[in-house]
Amino acid sequence: MSQHLCHAYRCTKAVKPEKLMCARHWRMVPLRMQRMVCVAYAIGQCDTKRPSYAWLAAAQIAISTVADKEGYGLEQRTQIGLIEQMQRGASCAEWEQRT
Ligand SMILES: [Zn+2]
Repeated sequence: MSQHLCHAYRCTKAVKPEKLMCARHWRMVPLRMQRMVCVAYAIGQCDTKRPSYAWLAAAQIAISTVADKEGYGLEQRTQIGLIEQMQRGASCAEWEQRT
């Protein structure tokens, strides 16, 4: 079974599928932003692998905010993001379907 990892950059902590980040990183997300992620979250989106665009957008903002606080620059983030995407098992086929 594949593990679901915290979505913060370079974090390898395993978290429950319904959680975006581990507790340490989630605490770095401002409360209002946490709410945006929670409101947009649809139960079962991890099973269907089809989160809403609202959730994707909110999640991306939250992830970027944490990256800012941890001092990752844009270029570094893009590189790490792509590598992690692959490590997390997003296959090329899956990627092409989305674009
Ligand atoms: Zn984390």
